[in-house]
Amino acid sequence: MTTIAGHLINGEMIADSTRTQPVFNPATGQATKEVALASVETVEAAIAAAQAAYPEWRNTPAIKRARVMFRFKELLEQNADRICELIGEEHGKISHDAAGELQRGIENVEYACGIAELLKGEYSKNVGPGIDSWSEFQPLGVVAGITPFNFPAMVPMWMFPLAIACGNTFVLKPSERDPSSTLFIAQLAHEAGLPAGVLNVVNGDKEAVDVLLTDERIKAVSFVGSTPIAEYIYSTANANGKRCQALGGAKNHAIVMPDADMDNAVNQLLGAAFGSSGERCMALSVAVAVGDAAADALVSKMKEAMQNLSVGAYSDSSNDFGPVITRQHQQKVNGYISSAEEDGATVVVDGRNPQVEGFEEGFFVGATLIDGVTPQMVSYKEEIFGPVLQVVRVNSMQEAMQLIDDHEYGNGTCIFTRDGEAARYFSDHIQVGMVGINVPLPVPVAYHSFGGWKRSLFGDLHAYGPDGVRFYTKRKTITQRWPSAGVREGVNFSMPTMK
Ligand code: NAD
Repeated sequence: MTTIAGHLINGEMIADSTRTQPVFNPATGQATKEVALASVETVEAAIAAAQAAYPEWRNTPAIKRARVMFRFKELLEQNADRICELIGEEHGKISHDAAGELQRGIENVEYACGIAELLKGEYSKNVGPGIDSWSEFQPLGVVAGITPFNFPAMVPMWMFPLAIACGNTFVLKPSERDPSSTLFIAQLAHEAGLPAGVLNVVNGDKEAVDVLLTDERIKAVSFVGSTPIAEYIYSTANANGKRCQALGGAKNHAIVMPDADMDNAVNQLLGAAFGSSGERCMALSVAVAVGDAAADALVSKMKEAMQNLSVGAYSDSSNDFGPVITRQHQQKVNGYISSAEEDGATVVVDGRNPQVEGFEEGFFVGATLIDGVTPQMVSYKEEIFGPVLQVVRVNSMQEAMQLIDDHEYGNGTCIFTRDGEAARYFSDHIQVGMVGINVPLPVPVAYHSFGGWKRSLFGDLHAYGPDGVRFYTKRKTITQRWPSAGVREGVNFSMPTMK
């Protein structure tokens, strides 16, 4: 019998299986189960469950909501192996990488454990005679999250733990390509003590997403995925009166300065370009080498180091990275490599069609290095989202920075240098939201917030951390006077002031 990944609504697993889609194991290339694609009615049922659970959850003291988060964290840690296995089976990432993703997700739960402190408002005594004023941060109501395939555990946990800790109830629509780890994590949240209806998960596609974007009971939408969809989500949610943060795609450049510790830069670039098969929105996909000497050294050292990389199945933890997500995506990545070659770049290490013994049907692309890439090439302009590092040669740091600033995306970037002045100038001026100095993947920790600039993020507030608290709450300011007995104010038609 075919296993169906269904939905979690009002604390119950249900499978509305009128429409389904296969879920693949990308290492074997075989479909292993079906995922249910929620109908309009199913999504509406999830919203109704969240709406019904909201009043009681909103009034649950923050410290009690935090206690659920503490238990949830423990359950995530106890079930880590199972979660990583589910990620590996459907996403394809190797267990050491899945464990890292899970840990980053858990850190967001740890942040949410501090919700009582985070929701403390602002208070001013005596803003006028006998008048006190305070601001408090109230939950929004039912909020939704829509997440991508590449971090099925971490990205949902960027959203729902904090949203729920703030007193909201939640409808999550994970990626239909690797639904099982997300569903399992949501079940653990219930096991931790979340009342039914507080967190609901609907699997599905555009049909489900469009309900979340238009139903008036949804007050805010968090989205992470590709830029064209992020733009659609942001404009549609806004047109329907919802608060929205929509994080999109990326093209992250690393500047390699002539004074960089080249061996260190090569080690860092290997992990940041090829880890998780380059399917990370913070993957470094372009190395901008300043000067031909730096470029030549970088390319020759990379080429040598890449001989030792192993691409393979998630089940062998000695592999460095796994397959890409689908056959179609594998062909797309190969197509970008071919297009760079046709446009005049040099494929120094060619990862097209690697042989992975025992996994001949898997969606593998090997680590690829391309030199002599120019900004006019399609492979430079677009996000490849595969294990491909492109080298662009420039003559100065200014030229390198201009290249980054001119690119449509502004998610992450990094500079490899020993020059503190250059690094400081770079971090101060570059038009990118997350900057690393000799740190290749500057993904902010859970108590900062995550977000790119330019077309990598639509909205005002970044994800998780302090911005997350602001996103999932609305400020209310109360001004209060208790007049002393016998003291009465006269009528005053002027704007009240303290003058
Ligand atoms: P995607 O945009 O295809 O899908 C993301 C979500 O949107 C999924 O839940 C999907 O079901 C839904 N969706 C897809 N098409 C839709 C449509 N037409 N209408 C409504 N909803 C739709 O992205 P993906 O391929 O799953 O993920 C990879 C992308 O996500 C990359 O571009 C990557 O850079 C980006 N990403 C960005 C960040 C970030 O923080 N900026 C983090 C992770 C991934």
